[in-house]
Amino acid sequence: MNQNNLMEKIISLAKRRGFIFQSSEIYGGLAGVWDYGPLGVELKNNIKREFWKAMVLSREDVFGIDAGILMHPRVWEASGHIEFFNDPLVECKICHQRFRADNKDLILEHENWHKEKNEKVSWTEPRNFNLLVEAYLGTVEGEKSKVYLRGEITQGVHVNFKNILNTLSPKLPFGIAQVGKAFRNEISPGNFTFRSREFEQMELQYYVYPDDEKSMEYLEYWKNERLNWYISLGLKKENLRLREHSKDELAHYAKGAWDIEYNTPFGGFKELEGIHHRGNWDLKRHSEYSGEDLSYFDLNTNKKIIPYVIETSGGVDRAVLFFLIDAYFEDKDRVVLKLHPKLAPYKIAVFPLLANKPELVNLAYKIYKDLKPHFMTAWDDRGNIGKRYYSQDEIGTPYCITVDFDSLKNQDVTVRDRDTTAQIRVPIDKLKAYFEEKINQ
Ligand code: ATP
Repeated sequence: MNQNNLMEKIISLAKRRGFIFQSSEIYGGLAGVWDYGPLGVELKNNIKREFWKAMVLSREDVFGIDAGILMHPRVWEASGHIEFFNDPLVECKICHQRFRADNKDLILEHENWHKEKNEKVSWTEPRNFNLLVEAYLGTVEGEKSKVYLRGEITQGVHVNFKNILNTLSPKLPFGIAQVGKAFRNEISPGNFTFRSREFEQMELQYYVYPDDEKSMEYLEYWKNERLNWYISLGLKKENLRLREHSKDELAHYAKGAWDIEYNTPFGGFKELEGIHHRGNWDLKRHSEYSGEDLSYFDLNTNKKIIPYVIETSGGVDRAVLFFLIDAYFEDKDRVVLKLHPKLAPYKIAVFPLLANKPELVNLAYKIYKDLKPHFMTAWDDRGNIGKRYYSQDEIGTPYCITVDFDSLKNQDVTVRDRDTTAQIRVPIDKLKAYFEEKINQ
């Protein structure tokens, strides 16, 4: 399949079937912002739920928080966002990295880096670029105070470090996870939802002893955990890779940085999640800027220490997009989204064989109503069975149930598998147990 063509097909399917719409479309749209429709919100929520299950619910050493989108403006001074992003910057049109326009050495080095890969860099015009989206709080004109919509969810965790220590008294190593919206004034949003101005992140800040060697083992550990999480939910291994940041990409405080990248149809491998060893930079900066002591008291040595942090920072919208691309499959005359059952918006669809036979409709509807509180279940009685199957295949529903005349006699139904199209009979009173095993395995 032609790769550009593939993106067109995904975008068209996403719109036609209610996964993703352009924001404010009836007003001509708003660049870089997207609305998730009834199916998109299920897929997105399923991804976030699986993240939370893997990172918080199933672990003893990670806690969750949900910090505000608006934060004290000093947060962004401490994080370096305001300082860095108020300089005139140029952006590399290939990889979207930004450099201070006056930093000729770095710019040349970057051009050479691309040249080695036979790529010729072109740059945007230098401009005073502020990545952060500004907002104004207060009701009296002239007395409003400027705040920023958070540019990353990370800082909401670091500023709560002390609250977590005081309330839960966790022992190192421990982590704080968060999922939520972030906003960036991206110069060039594009490639569907890949680069948006409003997007969601799913993150973990994992605090460890400030031991140079041992902390690198945690970096290794989280690289593998996160990569395997994507694979366990169905992203093809061969479409993923871990890429180490080159020296010119590495922040001065970082002790190691890797990206999990996905092989996209729009220019090859692109970042899905960053796994970064940030040293103690964040806690140190917030201590300095807030005047609060953000150290951890180590009972083993009776000393205060500033932990190191390993950060895993993934994009929920990029995950949605890449799961869609990876699952897209054309099989003779049907399109199938081979989404993992845990991610599929609907798990089951229920059909009466014929819509004009009340006895079939009644039994099918009863099955639908019984399953719906336990599994996201769709109802369809339009057209013929073949069309209904194809319609469910296209949105990734793993199982379809058909109620026919034998069902009335034998109290069983046909269950059809999306991927193999194989059909088996299952007793109606065993359906719940059957799907529990299939979907939650
Ligand atoms: P990029 O280099 O692609 O701009 P980044 O290095 O700026 O990404 P981070 O700041 O590390 O990204 O953010 C962590 C994650 O948040 C990224 O891996 C990505 O999945 C997601 N993300 C970042 N920017 C955007 C965006 N503009 N739209 C959608 N997702 C984004």
